Amino acid sequence: MNHVSNDFILKNVSEDLIDMYLDSCITAAGMCECPRCRADVRAFALNNFPPRYVVTDIGDVLSRVDLLSNQFRADIIIAIMNGINLVMRSPRHHMAARELNLDAVIAQVEARTGGQTEA
Ligand SMILES: [Zn+2]
Repeated sequence: MNHVSNDFILKNVSEDLIDMYLDSCITAAGMCECPRCRADVRAFALNNFPPRYVVTDIGDVLSRVDLLSNQFRADIIIAIMNGINLVMRSPRHHMAARELNLDAVIAQVEARTGGQTEA
């Protein structure tokens, strides 16, 4: 009688697809890859794309995802790219390290500390 087992799961395939494409979109866009910026893009995409829930047998999730249309995939990627545009315009990480001239920063740090060993 206890046939209510865990052989099925409730899945939001929108979330699965967003996670599937998130990192490659971020890399392709040249966006800051720090955890905060990544989380901001993920939140934006999840908030701006309708969830699509399926109840499916475990192990069947990927095949269900494969059945989704190319248009659905394209819409997911567009939602991610919109989030990337937003985050790139106003990143909310503490230091916009990617936007700094790293060589200049290193030169400054070395000028302050280099050759002058602090007592
Ligand atoms: Zn960042």
